[in-house]
Amino acid sequence: MAGRKGPLDFVRPHLLTLAPYEAVDPPDVLAEKAGMPESQTAKLNGNENPYGPSPRVAEMIAAVNRMHIYPDPGQVAMRTALGEFLDVPMDQIVVGNGSDEIIDLVFRCVLGPGDAVINCEPTFGMYEFTAHVCGGRTVTVERDERFAVDVDAVLAAVDESTKIVAIASPNNPSGNCTPLADIERLLAANVLVLVDEAYVEFGGTSVGTWVARHQNLIVLRTFSKWGGLAGLRVGYGIMDSALADLLLRAKPPYNVNQASEAAMLATLSDTDTLDQRAALIVGERKRMSAALAEMPGVEPLPSEANFLLCRMPEGRGKAVYESLARHGVFVRYYSRASLADYLRISVGTPEQTTQVIEAMIQSLAE
Ligand SMILES: *Cc1c(COP(=O)(O)O)cnc(C)c1O
Repeated sequence: MAGRKGPLDFVRPHLLTLAPYEAVDPPDVLAEKAGMPESQTAKLNGNENPYGPSPRVAEMIAAVNRMHIYPDPGQVAMRTALGEFLDVPMDQIVVGNGSDEIIDLVFRCVLGPGDAVINCEPTFGMYEFTAHVCGGRTVTVERDERFAVDVDAVLAAVDESTKIVAIASPNNPSGNCTPLADIERLLAANVLVLVDEAYVEFGGTSVGTWVARHQNLIVLRTFSKWGGLAGLRVGYGIMDSALADLLLRAKPPYNVNQASEAAMLATLSDTDTLDQRAALIVGERKRMSAALAEMPGVEPLPSEANFLLCRMPEGRGKAVYESLARHGVFVRYYSRASLADYLRISVGTPEQTTQVIEAMIQSLAE
């Protein structure tokens, strides 16, 4: 008789080799590593909003008076408010526990064994990670040396097994947008095109209203960056109403909790505040970019997002990253070879910009 099975013998085999998503450490852990109080450090590795949420968010969460009741699985209040904000019909909208959950839902509903997602590297890690979890494949099409999507190569890579082309625009980590004409060309292919607009409030043009014309378009947006709600997890997808209806049926029924719902509605009632803060961040992005461009061997790439991808003097990316951390400035370093000379620096407050500039000058001199 065969031996008794252990719990991992029941797991889907492709998951046994799953690498964890490389998430960033929380600020207290980073401060402890740097050996300084958290208040003296600058956490610029997660593209979070340094100003936090709208002040109305805490008020509206405190006013929630039905926490003992499950949230609305149909998300009617949130989808109605978003529909007005975006000028798209609410039946094209699905709200998720972060836009990460919309990626997960789409991939779970779409990818069967052997099905492929075309991924334009370097880009956001969740597309590859989620495709793997769902049992699909990732086909990588490298971006060009300026990190533009190689549309011809993507179209050439589409075959019978291709279900989704994933495009972050503005792209994380490079900060550049994919031109609208390129998105039009991708939409002409016989695949779903996922356009992730997590940073669109800082630059670029949303294609959210294109869904009426393009049934194969899925647009992702989030409250994590512009809205300062990364910790509450609210994102959404805009897509053809038939696909939205399917996702609404397939999702965990109570996926967005009442605190997150209150936070989203409060944010949508206070967009002027968030837009003003986004304008401050864009101003700091310009100031930081100009200052970094003055430093020998340093090249910040043009960015439409709330971060800069910045090339360091050749071979020094990791050393500068480690030195910045010793100065209490936490940025993002990538292990991938094509980004070895680059650091991604989130744009924060004016004080944080100054701190980055000073620490960078010292780190480069070491
Ligand atoms: C930060 C980010 C998101 C946001 O994900 P949430 O789950 O909504 O917090 C989505 N896409 C990209 C490209 C991002 O960088």
